[in-house]
Amino acid sequence: MLARGFKAEANRIVTEVRKEIGLSPFDALDPHKLALHLDIPIIGLSEFLNEAPAVHHLLYTESTVFSAITVFSGSRRTIVHNDAHVLSRQASNLSHELSHGLLLHPPTPALDNIGCRHWNQDIEDEATWLAGALLIPEATALAIAKGKWSVSSAALRFGVSCAMIRYRLNATGAKKRIHRAS
Ligand SMILES: [Zn+2]
Repeated sequence: MLARGFKAEANRIVTEVRKEIGLSPFDALDPHKLALHLDIPIIGLSEFLNEAPAVHHLLYTESTVFSAITVFSGSRRTIVHNDAHVLSRQASNLSHELSHGLLLHPPTPALDNIGCRHWNQDIEDEATWLAGALLIPEATALAIAKGKWSVSSAALRFGVSCAMIRYRLNATGAKKRIHRAS
């Protein structure tokens, strides 16, 4: 569940961050540029192939198993991500991890002391929401709903999947708002 007021807060962060890196809502956001701006290094999983050949499995055999993770050294973040995924998926994975950073989410242990995966759903929901808003801001979703771009041409332009465009059209209520106005 997203806390009351979180969506407005996310929109504020998106406007601020896009301005800082010189992007209008209609420009594609390159997560690598944002990472550079936030001083968060990004490492591709393929860089570990030589030292750890087992990585090959995560890259090519079962690539859906691993998307991205933020590794902490003190309060310093580094993102390790699966660079074998298609670029649109990488954009979504990286934006999700960068959103954890923008929201200053604290490190959470990946596994608890009995080896179960630790998962904080509220924090994940926030990062997922902000990631979508960074890639497809509300103004962009509205423009798409108004027909400025088709779903597939918007996906190409913004470097995301068609599923991401549809998700943002629904999540922002852009489609409904257009209907109501017409
Ligand atoms: Zn997450």
